[in-house]
Amino acid sequence: MRLVRITAAAGAVLLAAALSACGSSTKTVDQNTDSGSNAGALVGVTMPTKSSERWVHDGDNLKAALEKLGYKVDLQYAEDDIPTQVNQVENQITKGAKLLIIASIDGTAITTQLQEAADKQVKVIAYDRLIRNSPNVDYYTTFDNFKVGVQQATSLLVGLKLKNADGSDGSAKGPFNVELFAGSPDDNNATFFYNGAMSVLQPYIDNGTLVVKSGQKDFKTIAILRWKAETAQRRMEDILTKTYSSGAKVDGVLSPYDGLSIGILSALKSNGYGTQGQPYPVVTGQDAEVTSVKSIIADEQYSTIYKDTRKLAEVTAKMADEVLKGQQPEVNNEKDYDNGNKVVPAYLLDPVIVDKSNYKQELVDTGYLTEAQLQ
Ligand code: BGC
Repeated sequence: MRLVRITAAAGAVLLAAALSACGSSTKTVDQNTDSGSNAGALVGVTMPTKSSERWVHDGDNLKAALEKLGYKVDLQYAEDDIPTQVNQVENQITKGAKLLIIASIDGTAITTQLQEAADKQVKVIAYDRLIRNSPNVDYYTTFDNFKVGVQQATSLLVGLKLKNADGSDGSAKGPFNVELFAGSPDDNNATFFYNGAMSVLQPYIDNGTLVVKSGQKDFKTIAILRWKAETAQRRMEDILTKTYSSGAKVDGVLSPYDGLSIGILSALKSNGYGTQGQPYPVVTGQDAEVTSVKSIIADEQYSTIYKDTRKLAEVTAKMADEVLKGQQPEVNNEKDYDNGNKVVPAYLLDPVIVDKSNYKQELVDTGYLTEAQLQ
């Protein structure tokens, strides 16, 4: 036991030395912090659900990276149940965690626990999803969420041939019927995705090239609570029944997440889409989940947004290590993520549009997915 602890501490010191040898730009901000005192400390990691592949990978990757740095990790999933996540965070504080990494379900539900954490000098990193309305969020690691929305909308336009992939105007003129979906209203990311997408789509809606035939455009109306596939499926079915039963066709669907795209595609399928005479509309997505990439290869879903969660785990573990050593971690955005209480310093990674033309290069060649998984 003792030997394990010493080895872990030694590992952390070696890693710190290696990082500074690499020219890491971190600097010590709190001279009073004994940088060794958190070596081997407990880090609490809470993820929203195991029902989506990405969060399983995020959790596994974070745990491995933190353990490699010598930390102990308590990793919890809450199956999208808010009280469960609140309890998990509470327990981690009680167990003596020195830092919390939280991918929240409802970014406003854990303010009491975060205050408790702050009172005990426990630092908090919001992971992927910003935690809102609390001063006690120290850092945020995520992808450029506005850009995710821009990319989803851009790929919808490319799929409809209104644009070419290089940004030039495409061969089609429209008008096209499109329907819009957004993510969970309690997830801060969902608004960013929506705003990013609408920044691209609104001009096309305004000039009549895109027609939202259901008339349902505003965020609240099109948001899908807890990102549930069944809810998206039901909403798509309702829209098809109410708006498209007289013969009009859906040409495109803005979907913000692969799980929702699956629900949307099955509603379309049970209404006669996906046949020779009536192909699926252009349906977007996010996360490059295996089932959806297979669906892209099979010409069902049109595209997804690839976010390399391995990189997110890596930068977050590095940030956690720096924070626990009393250093100031590297951030690259200090303006965009206002949580309603303060602007949270963030480290943003870049998302990538993936469709049938580049999935091999982006997903397989990079080792994110294997060919075997996609058979
Ligand atoms: C994440 C997305 C994910 C969605 C549903 C969002 O907060 O950024 O990657 O698709 O949650 O899990």
